[in-house]
Amino acid sequence: MTRTLRDLPAGLAGKRGLVRVDYNVPLDAGQVADATRIEASLPTLRWLLRRDVRPVLLSHLGRPGGQPDPALSLAPVASALAGLLEAEVLFSAPCDGEEALRASRELGTAQVLLAENTRFLPGETANDDALAGRLARLGDFFVNDAFGTLHRAHASTTGVPALLSPSAAGLLIERELEALGALDRPGRPFIVAFGGAKIGDKIELMRRFVERADLILVGGAMANTFLRALGIETGTSLVEEEALDLARSILVAGGERIRLPTDVTVLDRSGGESVESVAVGAIEPEMAALDIGPESRARYAEALDGCAAFFWNGPMGLFEDPRFAAGTFAVAEAAAEATAAGGFTVIGGGDSAAAVRQAGLRDRVSHVCTGGGAALEYLSSGRLPGLDVLAERRRS
Ligand code: ADP
Ligand code: MG
Repeated sequence: MTRTLRDLPAGLAGKRGLVRVDYNVPLDAGQVADATRIEASLPTLRWLLRRDVRPVLLSHLGRPGGQPDPALSLAPVASALAGLLEAEVLFSAPCDGEEALRASRELGTAQVLLAENTRFLPGETANDDALAGRLARLGDFFVNDAFGTLHRAHASTTGVPALLSPSAAGLLIERELEALGALDRPGRPFIVAFGGAKIGDKIELMRRFVERADLILVGGAMANTFLRALGIETGTSLVEEEALDLARSILVAGGERIRLPTDVTVLDRSGGESVESVAVGAIEPEMAALDIGPESRARYAEALDGCAAFFWNGPMGLFEDPRFAAGTFAVAEAAAEATAAGGFTVIGGGDSAAAVRQAGLRDRVSHVCTGGGAALEYLSSGRLPGLDVLAERRRS
């Protein structure tokens, strides 16, 4: 198990805790448009402040490509954080210079220092040793609480903890790992649902869950690839031709436990544009399947009734378009009902999480992962570069 805050030695008072947070938040006209990620960092920051630690925060924001971009400055995040935390938040640009070092050393009680966007420096994504060294000087110990970036080996995620000891995972990461880890020994029946655009990206994840789950519900564009693999006409639907063999191997491995849609909602382009639901098998060459149909929605919702554990990755359709959102929202609603009935439900994946939020059901499922890429990589391989480096320090 990864070392966490509670495993840190006593006597942290007065020390500088260098904390990697995930403040990759949406901005709108220079203001934080959604503070979810800032709020998610508060438990760790409060834990540290209660112990009189002086937190120094590192984060990236967007993809400035290794050079300063005023539109991606973390300065607005400093104001938003100050409003949420009972502490004064100082800001330093750039994140690695003498000014940042001095500011970190002058921090007082109930003060926090947020350093400028780490990706303003080219060495961040290249995991440059010299940059990691300059960043490591900003703290006396290291805490990583940026769950969403654990799958990246960057200077601020893997470079710094290799140099700065002790290091530990923060409370947000701890909570994410607990939820994902519980899927290793799920209650039964354990049901999974897969959708979204591509099988290719998710093949390892699917293999692992197809072995373990009692039922596998398939939707989204991914379902089209499965239907095509069975020789069914899919019209102009999005199909991943190069994944047809993978789809067949999953169908063999999952056998009877795999459920495909029996009807789909299509956009029909023969003579204008119309939306209708048709049985699988009645998809015509001019049609694109963009959602699961009403019968499939009812079947999938019924399958979730009474499940003990549920994991979901990938929307059931093109939910960004309200005409094709019903399948995704039906599964989200069924997950909320299963949770109310005592089931343990986890949603992983950036777009899936967005869909559950859009349905207003985020608080009615057991856990929504804050980092799509990191969650999927952890579930596929059981490992993450940003975690491995925390665990390694412990053995040394
Ligand atoms: P996640 O981010 O949850 O892992 P993905 O990135 O794999 O999910 O897939 C999400 C995308 O798949 C969404 O943008 C959605 O519109 C798209 N999608 C789902 N079903 C279809 C479909 N039938 N046709 C085209 N796109 C689809
Ligand atoms: Mg996605």
